[in-house]
Amino acid sequence: MVKNTYGTQVKFLGGNNENRIGANSILIEHSEQGKKTTRVMIDSGSLFAPDYSEYAAVFADMSSYFENPYHPCEYPVDALFITHCHEDHIGALAYFAVAKYKLPKIYTSEYTKDMILSQMKKLNVPQEFIPEIEIVSQGQTVDASDNTHVSPFSVSHSTHSALGFHIHTTTDGQTNAGLLCTGDYHLDKVPFGKCFEEESFAKFISDKPVTHILTDSTSATMDESQTVTCEQAVDNVVRELEKHPEKQVFAPVISRSVQNLAIHLKAAYLLGRHALIISPALRDSYNILRKRLKDNDPELLKMFGVKEGEEFDIDSFVHTANNNADIQNLTNKYPYGKRYFIHSGAMGEETSLLAVLAGQNKVTYDEKGKVKGKGLSGHPVLTVDTNSVFIISQRAIPGISDVSLPIYLNKLQAIGATVIKNGDTPDQKFQRSGHANKAEVQKLYDLTVQYCANTKQIQDGTQKVTVVAIHGSVEQLEAQNQIFENKHVQTMLCRNTDILRITNGNTKQILGLSFENQSWIGIEKHSMSGYGVDDVFSFDVCDKNFMKIDNLFTVINISTSANPHAHKENSYRVAKALETALKLEEEGTFMSNIQIRNQVRGDKRGRVIEEYSYEDLEELRNTHSKPRKKNYRRGYDGR
Ligand SMILES: [Zn+2]
Ligand SMILES: [Zn+2]
Repeated sequence: MVKNTYGTQVKFLGGNNENRIGANSILIEHSEQGKKTTRVMIDSGSLFAPDYSEYAAVFADMSSYFENPYHPCEYPVDALFITHCHEDHIGALAYFAVAKYKLPKIYTSEYTKDMILSQMKKLNVPQEFIPEIEIVSQGQTVDASDNTHVSPFSVSHSTHSALGFHIHTTTDGQTNAGLLCTGDYHLDKVPFGKCFEEESFAKFISDKPVTHILTDSTSATMDESQTVTCEQAVDNVVRELEKHPEKQVFAPVISRSVQNLAIHLKAAYLLGRHALIISPALRDSYNILRKRLKDNDPELLKMFGVKEGEEFDIDSFVHTANNNADIQNLTNKYPYGKRYFIHSGAMGEETSLLAVLAGQNKVTYDEKGKVKGKGLSGHPVLTVDTNSVFIISQRAIPGISDVSLPIYLNKLQAIGATVIKNGDTPDQKFQRSGHANKAEVQKLYDLTVQYCANTKQIQDGTQKVTVVAIHGSVEQLEAQNQIFENKHVQTMLCRNTDILRITNGNTKQILGLSFENQSWIGIEKHSMSGYGVDDVFSFDVCDKNFMKIDNLFTVINISTSANPHAHKENSYRVAKALETALKLEEEGTFMSNIQIRNQVRGDKRGRVIEEYSYEDLEELRNTHSKPRKKNYRRGYDGR
């Protein structure tokens, strides 16, 4: 007998991973008797993959939710809402579009729309697969159906115009669930763009019932003393750099952290230096910011302290460089004390300018000295010396940059450069965390229950609000629940593939219902440079570090069309899979088998065309892989 699932189901597709942050995606399904099920999705991001992985992007398989001409879609999503433009929230979209999935209509802010489209352009997404994107802002409501209504609200974050969403589902016209999904947020002012404002949020939530708050926990381990406002960050950067007036400044910035880019631009402005932007991804972010300044965006002008009627020309002190000749021109023009380079490397990327400057880049060159594949073209015109100062805003991120970043910084110091790191002293805080600290998590909850439509019922105890931690490591998720523990607020800790089933505001949590069915897609770095668009879509990785499918290491070919390379590529894939498998085993992760699957038209899960047990690894190693390390120890006990 099929169980009645009328009501609202919240499915955690990604984002609540055990030990690697990212790939955020939540599916909200609402079913009412006699009506078609409505499905809305919040975000479709990719994981932050470590450098050693062979993957440019790893994300949850959404092929059951997005339409594809070759595959009938089991659970089509009616509308897709994107909170902001960070990779961990949008990173999967362009790849699905490239693989000819017809993405649902997207609702997001203007800035995020620009970033999604620019990513699709980079991947050469065919025009017919570019999704329709509607710009929404606080004050609007999107009716995904007559019983599912989604309303965006502004939040503060490290990028521009981030949104949270309130999702209201009804049964027989009565509230079934009121979900407040924060996305990545904090509550402070930001240098520019829309941000969270207490008063307007109170007004926003006043006509909306709230039964659940799904809230970002990424900084829930931090208390107020550990974070600074953006304005304080600018002051701190300026104060530190004033100590080095004769030196050239280098500042690595995460490309999508426009707020941090803005902090450095303002610091350059106040210091009378010329900001030289020399990474392609940062240039994209900057160009959007520049366009807004040229249109006299009042918020942005305010950020630079420009008074009404005053002249302000961003081009007078910010310059972008597209190639080495541009950099050469700029360095000829401006002496050390005027230079303020803003560039890549904040995430410890091995192809970043930071790695290049530290002499640690792994970019390879062909005989003519041209860079193979994608990556930086090297910067022979830039040299690090004792008159160089590096201002490092981004803390090393566990599992992502905590190995590479310290190596680069040590190398730079060895060359004689000055390195000033965020957090070196209590005053040295150079960026506002993009995420809510303990006090902010508490405050958003307080504001919500104080002003929402069902405040009275919450206060008299006839209704309760459940807080669900999303987007964080286990430690962060738990830290967030801790905040509410003594306050008699119900909390839930959800993992990927868990489901919350909500009927009349009451929640039943179903643990890992579809656990064994969820597959993940990985886009191989090599496939990005070596092959055409059709071949980009060739891989899935599932390793334990990424997504904890117990003891299973899988490679899935999910080509959407017959791929002529597929067969001859298989041996390469096995070799690659083994390489990663060996690395993981050395780190203490074990796995039981490897699967090579080939997905053909109409065959949703993919057919396993090759499968290897652990015992086969030895043999495979000899046929496919480099000789294994001598001290390799088999860390698997058969279970
Ligand atoms: Zn973010
Ligand atoms: Zn995020």
